[in-house]
Amino acid sequence: MEQSVSALHGTPVVPGIGYGPVVRPVARPVVPAQGTSVPDTAREAEVGRFEEAARVVTERLRARASRASGAAAEVLQATAVLVEDRAWRGAAATKIRSGADAVGATVGATEQFAALFEKMGGLQAERVTDLLDIRDRVIAELQGAPEPGLEMPDEPSVLLATDLAPADTAGLDPSAIVALATSLGGPTSHTAIIARQLGIPCVVAVAGLDDVPVGTTVLVDGATGRIVLSPDGAEAAAEVERDRIERERVAGWSGPGATADGHPVEILANVQDGSGARAARHTPAQGIGLFRTELCFLDRDAEPTVVEQSDIYAEVFEAFEGRKVVLRTLDAGSDKPLRFANHPDEHNPALGVRGIRITTSAPGVLDRQLDAVAEAASRTGARPWVMAPMVATVSEAADFAARVRERGLSPGVMIEVPSAALLADRLLEHLDFLSIGTNDLAQYTMAADRMSPQLAALTDPWQPAVLALVARAAQAGTAAGKPVGVCGEAAADPLLACVLAGMGVTSLSCAASAVTGVGARLSSVPMDRCREAAEVVLATDDPVAARAAAAKLLD
Ligand code: PEP
Ligand code: MG
Repeated sequence: MEQSVSALHGTPVVPGIGYGPVVRPVARPVVPAQGTSVPDTAREAEVGRFEEAARVVTERLRARASRASGAAAEVLQATAVLVEDRAWRGAAATKIRSGADAVGATVGATEQFAALFEKMGGLQAERVTDLLDIRDRVIAELQGAPEPGLEMPDEPSVLLATDLAPADTAGLDPSAIVALATSLGGPTSHTAIIARQLGIPCVVAVAGLDDVPVGTTVLVDGATGRIVLSPDGAEAAAEVERDRIERERVAGWSGPGATADGHPVEILANVQDGSGARAARHTPAQGIGLFRTELCFLDRDAEPTVVEQSDIYAEVFEAFEGRKVVLRTLDAGSDKPLRFANHPDEHNPALGVRGIRITTSAPGVLDRQLDAVAEAASRTGARPWVMAPMVATVSEAADFAARVRERGLSPGVMIEVPSAALLADRLLEHLDFLSIGTNDLAQYTMAADRMSPQLAALTDPWQPAVLALVARAAQAGTAAGKPVGVCGEAAADPLLACVLAGMGVTSLSCAASAVTGVGARLSSVPMDRCREAAEVVLATDDPVAARAAAAKLLD
């Protein structure tokens, strides 16, 4: 690499400083373009060899899952389940019985399933990375090669990679890997989610990262996205020390959410089920700001009954008894297709029938869900706020509000589509609150797929155009005297959280693991400073300038 390059930049995902020598994952096995053919008489033995390799890989993943916890354990378990998939194994066995060797059959079966997953789109398409990961693990085992992925280093190190398989990220030990950065991957990728859970400083989508050699000493700043190559040792040590003190301060924050001069801003948690809600109770989160109900039903062929649904919702209400819970109605479609929602075959599902729009393709689903919410509320004594995703027009908001009020519940909508942000004041005439989904708002404002690693810089929530829409919605709330929260990933970024508060946002809802970081940061700055930061950020031209302007005022 060019000698003159001393720093690289990417999209910051998990704040914090990590400093150490670069390590990279063990190379994946070379996947042969063509396998060898196996004679008739040896084919059953070859099937046995494939089955044994798959069994060893499954057991290793399960053993690692049992040593991990939370999302990491879930990712490892899910990868193990994929190796055990009967259809995938069956496809490989069939190929061996037709003459392919075990390696060739593994490659062939994986290609077949990857094509299928890609065709299904959405979350299923994202699982192609997992499929390629298990293919490589099984092939390495068949070849007698070491397990691909990461070997834990002896000294605290910085992990750099093109992209990380979920199973690699899930097994990371934060005392050995003090930071990680990838040249691909977006802010909502697996790498980002696990890094957040483990609290490992992380930067994704870093151009030029693949040229940094193993052993180079680097400093990763997960708050700004900066990666300094061969930094001055004393300066790096000082930055690490500052970060350590900051982390200690963060760990001691116990809420409730407020700026340094006492302006309240609720800090809430995003959850997807009862167990997530119970886990969030162990943080200082004051309530639930986003309960993503569709995630409870991704595996269902048939619509869950009202009773089934109300049992699930009641679990979440009970976990946060007497506190605020904001439930989102099914955000079906696009990256989260629900089989029972009658999604039409669409060329462009992100711009298709998703969220509130399923009311037309699957009439009755919304009403039955609202019945279930009302039933769970009356059973538990909860007073949930209920909001709809993907609302684009005033009439959608008015119609939703009427259905929710009929059941004695409090209605709101998500601001995820620019049209809704632009008309936030008129939406609020019908509603009690708004919640800004910055993940989709960025996708639709910037016309950039939120899942695309190539477009991560465009879907960065610090894009001034996205923030201008956030500010507009927040102002509408202030004028109407109604709450406007943020529940997208933007709310998990402690620096951005202060800027959002300065715009007039009344609550910040983020992953449970981000709650203390956001709350502690907000408690360190007065509201005037947050307002000033909001003003300067809105006057910048790009996310890098926006971050720098906010950091200058708030750090
Ligand atoms: C968002 O779009 O910001 C949001 C919170 O919804 P989801 O990420 O579930 O689409
Ligand atoms: Mg969304």
